[in-house]
Amino acid sequence: MSVLGLGTRADALQRLSEAGPEAPLDVLVVGGGITGAGVALDAAARGLRTGLVERDDFASGTSSRSSKLVHGGLRYLEQREFALVREASVERDLLQRLAPQLVEPIPFVLPVGERWRRAVFGAGLWAYDALAAPRNLHVHRHLDREETEALVPALPPGRVRGGYLYHDCRTDDARLVMAVLVEARRYGATVVNHAAVTDIEPGEDLVVAEIADRVGGGTLRVAARRMVVAAGVWADGLESLATGRRSHRLRPSKGIHLVFRRSDLPLGDAAAFIPDAERRRMLFVIPWFDAVLVGTTDTPYDGDLDAPTVTAEDRRYCLEAIEEAFGLGLGESDIAGAYAGLRPLITGVAETTADLSRRHALYDLAPGVICITGGKLTTYRRMARDAVDRVCEDLSIDAKAKTHWIRLGCSDLDALRAAAGRRAASIGVPRPAVTGLIRSYGDRALQVLDVAHAEGLTGPLVEGYPQLAAEAPYCVRAEMVVTLSDLLARRTRLALTDPAAGAG
Ligand code: FAD
Repeated sequence: MSVLGLGTRADALQRLSEAGPEAPLDVLVVGGGITGAGVALDAAARGLRTGLVERDDFASGTSSRSSKLVHGGLRYLEQREFALVREASVERDLLQRLAPQLVEPIPFVLPVGERWRRAVFGAGLWAYDALAAPRNLHVHRHLDREETEALVPALPPGRVRGGYLYHDCRTDDARLVMAVLVEARRYGATVVNHAAVTDIEPGEDLVVAEIADRVGGGTLRVAARRMVVAAGVWADGLESLATGRRSHRLRPSKGIHLVFRRSDLPLGDAAAFIPDAERRRMLFVIPWFDAVLVGTTDTPYDGDLDAPTVTAEDRRYCLEAIEEAFGLGLGESDIAGAYAGLRPLITGVAETTADLSRRHALYDLAPGVICITGGKLTTYRRMARDAVDRVCEDLSIDAKAKTHWIRLGCSDLDALRAAAGRRAASIGVPRPAVTGLIRSYGDRALQVLDVAHAEGLTGPLVEGYPQLAAEAPYCVRAEMVVTLSDLLARRTRLALTDPAAGAG
């Protein structure tokens, strides 16, 4: 089977502009984060004529700003969200098999100081394992002090009594979105970035969207039998476009991460799950390629949805937690980077956003327009399935979801590693670059190596970093990179792990 990228923007815009009232799409998806990408793949794989438009870049919203975990969600046990943890654990297992290059198991250490905490965490982990059965990654186990300190070298000797070891999966969120989109395209979906829906004419038989091309400058009108709004925290805004009203169903919650160099926060291969300084909340400390991510927070947010920022208070909170756990003396000047994202939480009666459910919701926004939001990166496939089931029901189309067996960009990881290793060695591309290419592009890593060879781009994109120079032209041609930020922030992730390198 041939491996494709996304095609060109010009072709995609042309195809969309042909979807008039006489030849409408079956479904137009608004939003190119993980949820929209999942809906596009599910719909296209069921044979629906599918289009997707993203106002900015793919994954530029919350889907590039997560903790980058495909996980059951240990902390949701506190809120008794057993069904959510069960669903997410099942998805974790499935995604690890569908995208092994991108979703990899990682050990987590839960260091324990006080004796009573050991009992509480132990009980939680038994429940966590039980909810993932029978396809759990590994059953958790207790660690003594020496084992805990060996797995988390940043811990000062004697600070903890011991800990627990359990497993979840780590991913690259923006690359996961791309893997799903490429598959959607392979099944025939037309996807385009930097194209914003600016007006919606709802209708039970036909929905018409006005779309602004934010690169070329024109507008196009696209007709579809159904519209699926997968616009995350922007969903209420899309409702205004369709109805002139806003029901304020969403209550965004801000979460931030600080990024450190591995040399400043030595971790080994395991992640840690540590309490904040006031022991109100747990924070992840995750080795993420060349960097370490620390987060996250959960604070109600009513500012500009397009520009959530990491405040001095956010930085202080995370630095205090790291100091309490590791005592490394890290300060503001050691922060290599930081990012903030907004959770699209559905309103409820909860007091704080931390108590609001991470479950997803599917609801009607206007005639012909449905909205899917809430949820988690981990559960995107279920969200997509629910949305497309609803579209099929509305349109009386008898087609079942297929995404539980559609591989996401990598047919055989061992064979790919061998083939890419051989190809790279023959053209002089170093091993760390190959590892990164396989993770980011799956089977298409071989196409990037072809570009590297053909165009003499076998060196690094930025000196001192594994990303390959050939990734730039490849991403422009195959992954619709339009701006420098598309390339550095979401395709190569250079701007995330080292903002200075990303700016260079
Ligand atoms: P988004 O990714 O925000 O996508 C919506 C898209 O719609 C945006 O790209 C936006 O530009 C586009 N859009 C808006 N308006 C328009 C328009 N008019 N026209 C066209 N396009 C439009 N989940 C996990 O499973 N694991 C984690 O580790 C995890 N960590 C998290 C950490 C933080 C700090 C946060 C905030 C969330 C985390 N989550 C995690 C949750 C997860 O990231 C989100 O649930 C998920 O990314 C939401 O994806 P989405 O596609 O629904 O929204």
